[in-house]
Amino acid sequence: MSAAGDAGRGPTTGPLGLDPVLLEILACPAPDHGELRPGTPDDPAASVLTCQSCGRRFPVTDGIPVLLLSEATGGPGDDAPVASGTPADG
Ligand SMILES: [Zn+2]
Repeated sequence: MSAAGDAGRGPTTGPLGLDPVLLEILACPAPDHGELRPGTPDDPAASVLTCQSCGRRFPVTDGIPVLLLSEATGGPGDDAPVASGTPADG
């Protein structure tokens, strides 16, 4: 096993293909403006950003975080049934 790492050259990217600098400046669009972290407590590799303040999860599409409250899942007041749970795929 060789050490994991990028074989090619290019800009440094963080989790989910997001720029670490971008992650630094991103904040939750909710009034709490909480810190966003990649993945979820249950699945750190999930293509979502989880607000550390309100717990909302925002999808990341093609490396682009969709920071819209209308697209967020979870968080306070989210009493929608979580019926569309995806079983571990693969
Ligand atoms: Zn938040």
